[in-house]
Amino acid sequence: MDFTVSEKMQTILEMINEFVDKELIPLEHETLTKSFSSMLPMLAEKREMVRQMELWAPNHPKEYGGMGLDMMEHALVSEALGRTTIGHYVFGCQAPDAGNIEILHMFGTDEQKEKYLGPLIQGKIRSCFSMTEVEYPGSNPVLMGTTAVRDGDEYVINGHKWYTSSADGAAFAIVMAVTNPDAAPHQRASMIIVPTDAPGFNHVRNIPVMGHAGADWASHAEILYQSCRVPKENLLGEEGSGFAIAQSRLGPGRIHHCMRWIGICNRSFDMMCSRAKSRVIAEGQTLADKQIIQAWIAECAAEIQQARLLVLYTGWKIEQLGAKGARKEISMAKFVTANTMQKVVDRALQVHGGLGMTDDTILARFFSHERAARIYDGADEVHKSSVARNILKSY
Ligand SMILES: Cc1cc2nc3c(=O)[nH]c(=O)nc-3n(C[C@H](O)[C@H](O)[C@H](O)COP(=O)(O)OP(=O)(O)OC[C@H]3O[C@@H](n4cnc5c(N)ncnc54)[C@H](O)[C@@H]3O)c2cc1C
Repeated sequence: MDFTVSEKMQTILEMINEFVDKELIPLEHETLTKSFSSMLPMLAEKREMVRQMELWAPNHPKEYGGMGLDMMEHALVSEALGRTTIGHYVFGCQAPDAGNIEILHMFGTDEQKEKYLGPLIQGKIRSCFSMTEVEYPGSNPVLMGTTAVRDGDEYVINGHKWYTSSADGAAFAIVMAVTNPDAAPHQRASMIIVPTDAPGFNHVRNIPVMGHAGADWASHAEILYQSCRVPKENLLGEEGSGFAIAQSRLGPGRIHHCMRWIGICNRSFDMMCSRAKSRVIAEGQTLADKQIIQAWIAECAAEIQQARLLVLYTGWKIEQLGAKGARKEISMAKFVTANTMQKVVDRALQVHGGLGMTDDTILARFFSHERAARIYDGADEVHKSSVARNILKSY
């Protein structure tokens, strides 16, 4: 396997790394202490700079104004952008829009693409993905309570969702709802595009998560769909294909998430080493002279490299066999990287002592917000049991 990075990608990565260091990391303190909404004008300026550098929407199709990088190229971009919490947003490749763009591009009608996909890729509007429910297990979404019933030329949607990330200020949601209750479990649900100004779309609140309710893109909403009506043309793909559509985008999306987490590992590791070298702990001695800190540094370096190689290998396998053929590796990469990130951030925070707990560095934000990585996109335990079942089949 060849790990050489092409000259084109080296240039792109250098430009991105420089931009992250000079333009975004200095803004981080503000993002930690102010509401995301108040940062929007400043972030719009940075987005414009990214457009001018022709680095906008790196992973999205060229025909709509993106750069059209392939999955592995964008994996490297995602690693570089992951070093800061606002990297993906400023470069126009943030979740949940990135996933919605992927499925609209693959399954949207011409009309849906014109109305939603173009403006989304160009950053004129935002979107959200509304699947997880308050009363039902997200880990087994075939047990879904939300329904969409045909009434003439419309769907009428009723249900109670939460963790609809970035719904605050979004133009539309892609909602997962049961349309075919009598079909086989994985053919009961459909994806439907629901404009957030549709009658019956009720944004109840931004849920407080680890002490922050957040705002705008940086938030997670509770949504009540109460006889919410949308035209039947808002169905995405076929009726009953909701889970199949969700499956089809899991491969590349997971690789990009995992590489974002590797970016967080790299930044935290860098901060840990710098702090260890500069923190004088006794006369003539810094933290870096202590064996236990040296062991953490060596272990973190090795663990980050292990996780990174697993993610890159998984990406390579997806390219060879498709997401279905790389299912085991996708699950392994997901839980390994999420746990590696948690461990690396925790050690970096520990090396910073009291400073690590403050909002004077980014570590406390990484520590609190990124804990969710072990829950969303499939909890650790779900991925582990899927890997084990896959392995045990051959015994
Ligand atoms: C920050 C954040 C952002 C999110 N964004 C979105 C979003 O944009 N859109 C959206 O629809 N959802 C989103 N989610 C929701 C997420 O997908 C769900 O939380 C996740 O699928 C788990 O579902 P649940 O919370 O209902 O937990 P449950 O399904 O109730 O599971 C609880 C726990 O039980 C354990 N468990 C579950 N199944 C098994 C099993 N088979 N074997 C052993 N143990 C098991 C796991 O430890 C799991 O964490 C987000 C969640 C978070 C935290």
